[in-house]
Amino acid sequence: MDMADKPFATDGPFAPDEPLTADEPFATDELLAANEAFATDESSVTGKLSTTDESFMRLALAQASLAASIGEAPIGAVVVHDGAVVASGYNRREIDADPSAHAELIALREAARALGRWRLSGCTVYVTLEPCLMCAGLMVQSRIDRCVYGAIDPKGGALGTLYQVNADERLNHSFTVTAGVLAEECSELLSGFFADLRVLSKQRRYADKQEAEGCL
Ligand SMILES: [Zn+2]
Repeated sequence: MDMADKPFATDGPFAPDEPLTADEPFATDELLAANEAFATDESSVTGKLSTTDESFMRLALAQASLAASIGEAPIGAVVVHDGAVVASGYNRREIDADPSAHAELIALREAARALGRWRLSGCTVYVTLEPCLMCAGLMVQSRIDRCVYGAIDPKGGALGTLYQVNADERLNHSFTVTAGVLAEECSELLSGFFADLRVLSKQRRYADKQEAEGCL
């Protein structure tokens, strides 16, 4: 499907609420800048990083690429239990017309089905972008052990950037977070996707203009 034909060409998790035009500063500049600064700071990988974290994050990145291939903002997730992937998911918000169809939410629901229990203790969620409030809330509800994420989200991150939902003593569950695993790859995948949409949007406007002028 041609992404230029998709109604959400100017939408995305980092796009402003107002429709984007190609002349406006692109919202992902902020994402890239934040993650560049994050990646060059050696202390930015927080928590305990295991040697397998990068390989599981690569699987989450593969899920993110699946999202991009159907015109969705590329965000992917996998859930790992006992060293094995038990569930995966990618952003399907547009195709499902569902505001809750975030990668990690889909993966967590699949993990619960696979394990036959709602309580996902012993599970680690790998996700390419810092979870939002909804997904961080679901991680509390599902009692996961740990979340490992790639890019930080300056506009919505709830596990360290804007909120620390994983370590709020008022809540009845806390979990470990490791941030910044393959952060640059994860943020570049997102910013590249939106840059492509921006070009398509510009090309479409140019084509529309040519067509309109031709009709005069
Ligand atoms: Zn989310």
